[in-house]
Amino acid sequence: MAQQESINILEFQQRFQTNDACRDHLFKIRWPEGLTCPICGSKDFYKITTRNVYECKCGHQISLTAGTIMHGSHTPLYKWFWAIYLAAYDKRGVSALRLQKELCVSYPTAWLMLQKIRHAMGGQDSRYLLAGIVETDETYIGGSKSGGKRGRGTEKTPIQAALSVNEEGCPEFLKMEILNDITGQSIRDFTEKHIQEGSIIRSDKYSSYKKAFEDRLYIHEAERFGIEENPEHLKWLHQVIGNVKAYIVGTYHGIGEKHLQAYLDEFCFRFNRRQFSGQLFNRLLNACMNSTTITYQEIILPVST
Ligand SMILES: [Zn+2]
Repeated sequence: MAQQESINILEFQQRFQTNDACRDHLFKIRWPEGLTCPICGSKDFYKITTRNVYECKCGHQISLTAGTIMHGSHTPLYKWFWAIYLAAYDKRGVSALRLQKELCVSYPTAWLMLQKIRHAMGGQDSRYLLAGIVETDETYIGGSKSGGKRGRGTEKTPIQAALSVNEEGCPEFLKMEILNDITGQSIRDFTEKHIQEGSIIRSDKYSSYKKAFEDRLYIHEAERFGIEENPEHLKWLHQVIGNVKAYIVGTYHGIGEKHLQAYLDEFCFRFNRRQFSGQLFNRLLNACMNSTTITYQEIILPVST
């Protein structure tokens, strides 16, 4: 990951008080070499600030926010900056209710802003593949519909988690995704999407894992000992899964399956950048600049509680 400028809350608050300041910052990220008109080659533009658009003397217009999550939004840029800042730094995840109060926006606006930010987080992490040694396991989140049964065979939402670890066994990068089921084929599809071929995959001995890796394009190491004999087995992954569950239950009570992936993406994004604390705002802002816009219709709005 490329280095980004560090910023603390005091610097942030002083620097981004106005839309002009936010616009200048976005401009520098988007066009570090300056803006050149693709029609006439001129570098002379003037700003149409009401629409975050730059217009060349030839009449050609270029939007600063096109292709970003902020495009088409009526919310001022400085409020977007604050939403991104809070989403980047609050380890428990900022709620729509809190954003509504802090930014003086409506609940639906706050909710949609956060969903768009989560969409950008997921999009950014989808650019990376796990590689090397990767621990994987499944977990289940949500209310059970089958009389309180736990684990495999319940009707909770199955989620596959994969965590790359270094040679000392310490965690590096995390991916989590909702699966339709925990069959060998589903695990295989998840693996091909998120893990580089040839990687070492560590899992338990569940038959679906054996089936998923029988063609040996990955090096599969199933648990050789029971957890009693080897407490180190998938230790970090199990700890991370525990943290994800606490985060989902603690911050976002009772979210439906429709939105669960977005919250998993948010958790993974922050986890994967835990070493870059000062840079989190600019890292997330960059992700938001590279994201395709999603609309109201694509994220059906829930009823405010
Ligand atoms: Zn021009």
